[in-house]
Amino acid sequence: MKKIIVDIDNTLWDFASVFYERITKVNPDFVPPRGWHTFDFWKAYLTPKEFYGIIRDIHMDQEKFPPYPQADHFLFMLKESGFYVIVASHREKGTFDATERWLKHNNLIFDELHISHDKTVLFDDCSAIVDDSPVTLKKAVKAGIIGVGLKMPWNEKEDCILFDDLTQLFQYLKKELL
Ligand SMILES: [Mg+2]
Repeated sequence: MKKIIVDIDNTLWDFASVFYERITKVNPDFVPPRGWHTFDFWKAYLTPKEFYGIIRDIHMDQEKFPPYPQADHFLFMLKESGFYVIVASHREKGTFDATERWLKHNNLIFDELHISHDKTVLFDDCSAIVDDSPVTLKKAVKAGIIGVGLKMPWNEKEDCILFDDLTQLFQYLKKELL
């Protein structure tokens, strides 16, 4: 059974909008998501403590936010096609329960939930990863697996395989892996 890693933030739900809303409460000068052209743009506006604190708070509040409309169907189609799905998110360990409840509450089906600061440990055993981080996607390609993601302001100028929606992304995975 082929294994696929599926990221959560900005892959299964719109993390960026909530993040922007909360950051502007700390620093009103923060640019909106369409201006986030690199993965570490935030360093000009926030301290690491502020940045990681906001992210952790959002992850603890995960159940307040809806997934993307296509997210449940996307995971369903992966399962229907015979893939083993590892939902993997770069989060603090303490957010595991809130994350799991959110997935179950929203019918986001999966085989395994991986919460850690390094999802590349899963690469050896997997055929592909779906993620918006250009850093992670490039590591995937280097490890010899497929790396694909939704097109975002912070990855669109990078040399990555990107799609406008999860349906197109699923079709690509199906073509490449089945
Ligand atoms: Mg992400």
